[in-house]
Amino acid sequence: MSSTPNIAASLTAVRTRIAEALARAGRQPDDARLIAVSKKQPVELIRLAYAEGQRDFGENYVQELTLKVQACADLADIRWHMIGHLQKNKARFAAEIAAAVHTVDSVELAVELGKRRANLQPTATTSDVDLPRGLGRDPQRLAILVEVNVGGELQKSGCSPDELPTILAAVEQQASLELVGLMTVPPFNAAPEASLTYFSQLAELRTRAGGPARLPHLSMGMSADLEQAVFAGSTLVRVGTAIFGDRAVARTTA
Ligand SMILES: *Cc1c(COP(=O)(O)O)cnc(C)c1O
Repeated sequence: MSSTPNIAASLTAVRTRIAEALARAGRQPDDARLIAVSKKQPVELIRLAYAEGQRDFGENYVQELTLKVQACADLADIRWHMIGHLQKNKARFAAEIAAAVHTVDSVELAVELGKRRANLQPTATTSDVDLPRGLGRDPQRLAILVEVNVGGELQKSGCSPDELPTILAAVEQQASLELVGLMTVPPFNAAPEASLTYFSQLAELRTRAGGPARLPHLSMGMSADLEQAVFAGSTLVRVGTAIFGDRAVARTTA
């Protein structure tokens, strides 16, 4: 029923939106990186985006992430970002294949990811282990962002602002992890103008926690509110629908 979306055109449009938002905010053109959120989208669309130079992709579900990593194993220097809620018992898979996990929201999850990633660290006998490149300064370590529930919604994942200092410290205690930033998802159905409030709160939490020196990345902004996110300082913009089209439609053609 639906035809393949024109990925080249939609990617160009999203890149232009980000570039214009950066310019309006007086930020540098390369200050924000686009993560193409490919959850529930077929691998063929990921390949089309890759052909257009896209290298960072976001997935929400560990099982789907695992399948897509395998299906795209031939794509050099592709980076996978785990952006969905991560259960502790699935941490091992994410630690093995992701360049970054955006959704650490407990000390327990940080410890588990650290342990799992450490087990993969190349040793004298396994120096050829091919780890996914991290986002941070040290490519051997798994890049970690701590998810904060700034909206305070009850049923939502993400830590509370009060818990944040303890979780940041727990990530930094794991030698195999590299703390790189904070992430948030505004309340569902928030208008873009309302999202700006939450994005600004996340930026403020970063300032209080030590600023960009400790937390270089802010992962925030989606298809509907990327302008507001970039205005508030986003460095990792997670965009799905505006690139790949509607997920409900894509699922039937996958
Ligand atoms: C699905 C999802 C996105 C992308 O949302 P779009 O509205 O399709 O751009 C971004 N971040 C997270 C955490 C998501 O789950």
